[in-house]
Amino acid sequence: MLAERINRIHESGTMKMKELAGQKKAEGKKIISFTVGEPDFDTPKHIVEAAKKALDEGKTRYLDAPGLPELRQAIAERAKKENGIPCDSSNVIVTPTKQAIFETIIATINEGEEVIMPDPSWVTYEPCVQLAGGKAVPCVTKEESQWRMRPEDVAELITPKTKMILFNSPSNPCGAVETHEDIKGLADLAKDHNLVVLSDEVYEKIIFDGLKHYSIAAEPGMMDRTITISGFSKTYAMTGWRLGWLIAPKPIFKGINKVQQHSITHAVSFAQYGGLAAMTGTQEPVKMMVKEFQERRDLIMKLMRDIPQLHCDTPKGAFYVFPRYEGKMNSEEMALFLMDKAEVALTGGSSFGAAGEQHLRISYATNKKNIQDGMERVKKALS
Ligand code: GLU
Repeated sequence: MLAERINRIHESGTMKMKELAGQKKAEGKKIISFTVGEPDFDTPKHIVEAAKKALDEGKTRYLDAPGLPELRQAIAERAKKENGIPCDSSNVIVTPTKQAIFETIIATINEGEEVIMPDPSWVTYEPCVQLAGGKAVPCVTKEESQWRMRPEDVAELITPKTKMILFNSPSNPCGAVETHEDIKGLADLAKDHNLVVLSDEVYEKIIFDGLKHYSIAAEPGMMDRTITISGFSKTYAMTGWRLGWLIAPKPIFKGINKVQQHSITHAVSFAQYGGLAAMTGTQEPVKMMVKEFQERRDLIMKLMRDIPQLHCDTPKGAFYVFPRYEGKMNSEEMALFLMDKAEVALTGGSSFGAAGEQHLRISYATNKKNIQDGMERVKKALS
C-alpha cells in the first residue's frame, strides 16, 4: 500500500536506537543512553515562562506561515550581527529545524539532481534528498582532516547534475568544525558552478577551544544562493518544542514558504513566544551549558583513552564523539552488542553513511555520572 518513494528511504538510525533504548528501559533494564543528541538540561526558566504567558494570554491562534513577526525580526538581527549574514526579517521562516531541511530540499531539488554532502553525516539529509527524487553524493571525510568536508574533495564530485552542496558545521556525528578557509573554498565552488548551498548550523553555539563559527551566507555573493538553517533545540535545550528557522534569499524563500503553507502552516504559536524570549533574553544559560558540554567532552575523551579498542581525536564542536573501534562486528551489530552486554545505548556509525562503518556515535549530552558509568561498562564489555 506504500508509495514507491517510501521504499527508497531507511528508518532514522538515531530515532530507532532511542526507541529501542526506551523499550529496554520499560522492560526494566538499567540502560544508560547515549543515543539521540538531546541536551539533558531543562529549558531555561524565562523561556518556559514566556510560552506559558502566551498560552494564558490566548496566543493560540493561527499565525502567518513564516512565523511571528517579532521573532523573525530577532532572528534576522542576530544573524546579521553575530553571523554577518546580510538578511532581514523577510528572509526568515520559523519552522522546526528538521522541517526546514525537508522543506528546503523539497523546494529546490529536481528529480535526478545531485546533492553533495559529507559522509558520515546526519541520518536525515539523504532521505530528504531521496524523497525529493534527487541523488545524495557522499563526500567522504576523514579523521586525518578532522572529518572536515574539504573543498578540494567536493570539487572532484561536481558534475553537470550537481544542484546543491549541503554541509553541517559543527557537525553531527563527528563534531567537525569547518575552517574559514574551507568555507571560502566551498563558497567559491558554489559560485563557480552556480550551486545552491544548504548550511545546517544548528550546533553553531556549541563550539569549543576558542574556535569561531563561520556562516557561508556571510561570504561575498553567497546570500543569494544559500539557505542557512539553525534552531533552538540544541542551544537552548528545547528539543521537544520543535522550533528552529531558516534564512533564504527571496526567490527561494517564496518556494519554501509554499511548502510550509501546505504542510505545517506555521510553527506552534505559543512556542514561538518562548523562542522570542530565548533570542532576546539572557544568554547566560547557554554559556553555562556550553561550558558543561566542553567538560563532558574532556571527560569522555579521557575515559576513552583508557579503552584500548576505541580510537578518536578530540572533536571541536557539537556534543558527539565518533570513535573507531577494533573488532569484526559491523557497527550495527556492535551497537546491539553493547546494548545487550553493557546496557549502553548508542548509534552505529553506518547509520550516518558508509564511511561511518567501524565507528560508533556517542552523544555525551548527558550527565557526568552517566558518562563515567557508561564508559566503564563499555570498557568491560569490549575487553
Ligand atoms: N539530531 C539529533 C541526533 O542526531 C536528534 C535525533 C534526530 O532527529 O535524528 O541525534
